[in-house]
Amino acid sequence: MGGSILGTTKILGVMGFPVSHSLSPVMHNAAIASMGFDYVYVPFPIPVEDLPAAIAGLKAIQSVQGFNLTIPHKVEVIPLLDEVLPIAKAVGAVNTVKRVGDRWVGTNTDVAGFLSPLKQLNCDWGNSPAVILGSGGAAKAVVAACLELGCPVIHVVGRDSKKMKKFHGAMTSQLHDYNLRVHPWTSIPHLLEVAGIVINATPIGMASDPNTPISEAEMDLLPDQAIAYDLIYTPRPTKFLQIAAARGLKAIDGLEMLINQGAIGLEFWLDQPVPIEIMRQALITHLG
Ligand code: NAP
Repeated sequence: MGGSILGTTKILGVMGFPVSHSLSPVMHNAAIASMGFDYVYVPFPIPVEDLPAAIAGLKAIQSVQGFNLTIPHKVEVIPLLDEVLPIAKAVGAVNTVKRVGDRWVGTNTDVAGFLSPLKQLNCDWGNSPAVILGSGGAAKAVVAACLELGCPVIHVVGRDSKKMKKFHGAMTSQLHDYNLRVHPWTSIPHLLEVAGIVINATPIGMASDPNTPISEAEMDLLPDQAIAYDLIYTPRPTKFLQIAAARGLKAIDGLEMLINQGAIGLEFWLDQPVPIEIMRQALITHLG
């Protein structure tokens, strides 16, 4: 928040259910305060069945300039918007919405957020098969990102064959001209032997489930140049990344994805560059 709430204050926020765990208010309000903008970013807890009413209601409140969406609303929001930008159509999920006149325009900043720490690396992505563990909402953004990187093949691993088939069908209809394959969990060792990057897009390793999606023995199968990327940002590092670092691999956690998807979203709302370092410091301080 830039200062006092005034009659002119504009509103941004995050819709989710639950939403109390969201770190977005921390980083967005830190950035808004440092820019001296007359905005505030607030949580909007909205049950699934109330999403249509919430989207219509917020449109009527003229000071609401935009909002983020988190679980469980990223897909269900799509038919409620006036326009969905191509990147969000490709992923099949919207995480950021902006008021443009009297229209809600949705985009997806998770793809660019995921790519941010990878773009700083000097990698031969054309020779880097990707292995994605999990097939939920975040995995969809990761598939689109790996496609943008130019990975020659994208392997997605899941535990439920029906869901995997559905995932493959949905992504195939949204993205074109790419090599996506889905596999059962038992295929992991065989896939890791030739992987250039392995991404944990499951909740395994969060504080509530402090495990690892792949074992130390499986991590040993990865080529020496492989990258281990965990979308989880608490704890830092996860057991998955601890094992990867001990094995000498490049290990990346989910904090930069979180910060960058937020910064790109704030730029989309404010139409100007935002202080990403202030957003990073606010989150690091908050997370201790
Ligand atoms: P989601 O939609 O609920 O998907 C979770 C996926 O993990 C599903 O495919 C699920 O499989 C699988 N899974 C869950 N528990 C599993 C287990 N014990 N064994 C094997 N597979 C399991 O969640 P999401 O939104 O994709 O998020 C996934 C993770 O990414 C979360 O930890 C989230 O916090 C993180 N994330 C981080 C960022 C960031 O900015 N850093 C952004 C988005 C998400 P089933 O379908 O079979 O249940």
